[in-house]
Amino acid sequence: MKKQYSETLLAKARKIKAVVLDCDGTLTDNTEVTGLDAPSAHGLLKRRSHYDGQGVSLIRAVGIPVAIITGEKGPGAQMITKLVERWNGLPSVKNRAWIQVALFTGYAGEEKVLKLRQWLKTNQLTSEDCAVMGDDLVDVPMLRAVGFRACPITAEEVVREMADFISDRPAGYGAVRDLANLILTARGIDPTTLPTK
Ligand SMILES: [Mg+2]
Repeated sequence: MKKQYSETLLAKARKIKAVVLDCDGTLTDNTEVTGLDAPSAHGLLKRRSHYDGQGVSLIRAVGIPVAIITGEKGPGAQMITKLVERWNGLPSVKNRAWIQVALFTGYAGEEKVLKLRQWLKTNQLTSEDCAVMGDDLVDVPMLRAVGFRACPITAEEVVREMADFISDRPAGYGAVRDLANLILTARGIDPTTLPTK
């Protein structure tokens, strides 16, 4: 059965022209497996879902640029850095600079807002055009700064209270895909007509 959204939500989602995601607690389930000495993981493993990777591809496929702004840096940002490199190497993305996922690591709180504004400016978009998905206090300034606020169902209460859209699936298990599905439905686009990679 097709998911039903309110007309108000669809009208708001129809205006989204850019998407900014937090990483931990949004793209990942916000846990870290530590204490391992596997050199490739720098002693730190994170969990995320291919459903969300496909969600990012779908958002880009309809011409909406995507950025990830995370407070993590160094080893903590290794997982997302590698993932974004992989996404930007996909056949549908190669040689199309405008649709590359932008990644900004080491930014929190108000710094996230500055980075978001800079990135939107380079894409000739405004914060009113932008949707942000985040899950905790460090994302609140960024969420307050944009026209559309989204969060995973597992986000902290302070974020859920201010959200226009709360995913059905938890962070790291399809929350970003839920946002992608909403955007496609709002635009009347059938996801089965879009490239999958
Ligand atoms: Mg987070």
